[in-house]
Amino acid sequence: MNLADRLHTAAGRLGGRAVLTLDEAELTYGTLDELSARLAGLLRGRGIGPGDRVAIMLPNVPEFGVVYYGVLRAGAVVVPLDPLLKRREIAAYLGDCGARLLIAWHAFAETAEAGSASTSTDCFFVVPGEFRRLLRGVAAEHEIAGMGADDTAVIHYTSGTTGRPKGIELTHANLGGNAATVARMHALGVDDVVLGALPLYHTFGQTCSLNATVHAGARLTLLPRFEAGRALEVIRRDGVTVFQGVPTMFIALLDHPGASDMSMLRVCASGGAALPLDVLRAYQDRFGCQIIEGYGLSETSPVAATNRGGDGLRAGSIGWPIRGVEMKVMAEDGREAPCGAIGEIVVRGPNVMKGYWNDPVATAEAIRDGWFYTGDLGRVDDDGFFFLVDRRRDVIIRGGYTVYPREVEEVLYEHPAVRQAAVFGVPHPELGEEIEATVSLRAPVTCEDLRDFVKERVAAYKYPRRISFVAELPMSATGKILKSALTRPAATPR
Ligand code: AMP
Repeated sequence: MNLADRLHTAAGRLGGRAVLTLDEAELTYGTLDELSARLAGLLRGRGIGPGDRVAIMLPNVPEFGVVYYGVLRAGAVVVPLDPLLKRREIAAYLGDCGARLLIAWHAFAETAEAGSASTSTDCFFVVPGEFRRLLRGVAAEHEIAGMGADDTAVIHYTSGTTGRPKGIELTHANLGGNAATVARMHALGVDDVVLGALPLYHTFGQTCSLNATVHAGARLTLLPRFEAGRALEVIRRDGVTVFQGVPTMFIALLDHPGASDMSMLRVCASGGAALPLDVLRAYQDRFGCQIIEGYGLSETSPVAATNRGGDGLRAGSIGWPIRGVEMKVMAEDGREAPCGAIGEIVVRGPNVMKGYWNDPVATAEAIRDGWFYTGDLGRVDDDGFFFLVDRRRDVIIRGGYTVYPREVEEVLYEHPAVRQAAVFGVPHPELGEEIEATVSLRAPVTCEDLRDFVKERVAAYKYPRRISFVAELPMSATGKILKSALTRPAATPR
C-alpha cells in the first residue's frame, strides 16, 4: 500500500476534519488529499513518476503534508532534507540520490539554489498562498501509484558530515507499518490532537507525528520551531493530548516558569536521545504525567522498542521491542550476549530499512543474517527490558578502562545546578583518552565542586578531569548533543 492511500482512505471518512493546522491555517483531510493529488499532477506534468527522487526542504508547515503525500502519490521517492543544511551538504545529498527536483520553502530559496547549482536537480519554491493558487490550476492525478512491499518511499540522509553520504531507504511498508504500530500503541483516535514539535523531515516526526496522525484520523498541530513558552500556549489553546518529543524539549518545559498543569496530555513519549532519569522523575512529580521512553534509529523507521507506560514502564529502560520486531544483544564474539552483559543491540523486523541507497557494501555491513546492527551498546534484563548504555563510537577508553559517557552524564544530571551535560573523550598522550565534560547550568556552581560531586559517585577513572561551561550545548533538531562540535574548555579545575 502507498502511504498516500492511507491519507486517501482517511479523507473518504473524515473529509471535513482538520488534519494539519498551524495557528489559524488549517488543512482538512479532504483538502490535503485533493492538493496532494494536484501536486502529483504537477509532477506528472514534469515527467516525474515512479522511482524518481524528489528532495524536499520544508519546515513544519501544512504544505509539508501536501508535498510529502503528493510526491508519494506520484510513486516518486521523497528525500527530506533538514532546512538547516548548508550549500555543500545539499549538493552532496542531491548528487548522491540524483534528485530530479528539489521542492523548497521560499525562505530557503537562496541556499537551495546554491546547493543545487552544481547538480542536475531543478528547484521549485513553495510560497504560501501562491502555492495553493498554483495547485488549483493543475489537473489532479487521482490515481495513486501502486506500491509493492519493497518499493522505496523515502530516502533519509544520516546526519553524518564526513565521508560518503548514507541514504537510508525506507519502504512504504516500513513506514506505514511503523506508523500504524505507534498509533495503536498510543491508542490514537480521531479526537486526539498531536503536537507537531518534532521536525517532519526526520523519521521520528514523520512516522510518529505525521503518518501516525493520518493513520488514526487525528489532528497534528504544527510548531515550526520548538520554544517552550510557545509549545505551552499551543498545548493549552488546541487541547493537545499527545506530545512526542526529544529529551531537550521535556527539559525546556520543566525549566519554563509558566508550565503547570499538563493533565490534558494523555501521552508523552520521548526518543532520539537518552532521557535523563531525573527529568523523567521531575516531570512526573511536577505535571503528573509519565514520559514513555522509546528507542529507534532512522534505519528502523524509526521505532524499534518502547516502554509501555503504567506498570509496563521501567525507568531508565527503553522497554521492549514493539510488536513484530525482535531485538537482541550481541557479544564481541558474534554470539548472543547473556542477560545483563553489554553488547551491540541488533534489530530484526518489518521496520528495518531496505538498505543504504546505492551502497551494497555499507548495507551488507549493517544488515547481517537479517539482523540490523545498530551501533548502540546495551543490555537486556531478566524481564526482557532493554537498557541503552551508549553509542558504540562514543565509548571512551581511558588507560585501558572503558567509560560509558552516558553513565557519567547521568551523575552530572543529578546535580541540581546542571541543566545539560555532555561527557566525551579527548586524546591524551599516556592514557589514550582523557575524560572531559561540557555543561550548561541552571544555577551557579564551580568546576571544582561539580568535578568533586562526580568524583564522589563514580570510580576514579570515570570522572571528568576538565569541565567547561557553556550557555547552551550544541544540539541537533532531533535532540542529540553534537559532541563533535564541543569546543575546548576555557576554565578548568587544576
Ligand atoms: P537517528 O537515526 O537520527 O534517529 O538516530 C538514532 C540514534 O539515536 C540511535 O542509534 C541512538 O544512539 C539514539 N537514540 C534513539 N533513541 C534513544 C534513546 N531512547 N536513548 C538513547 N539514545 C537514543
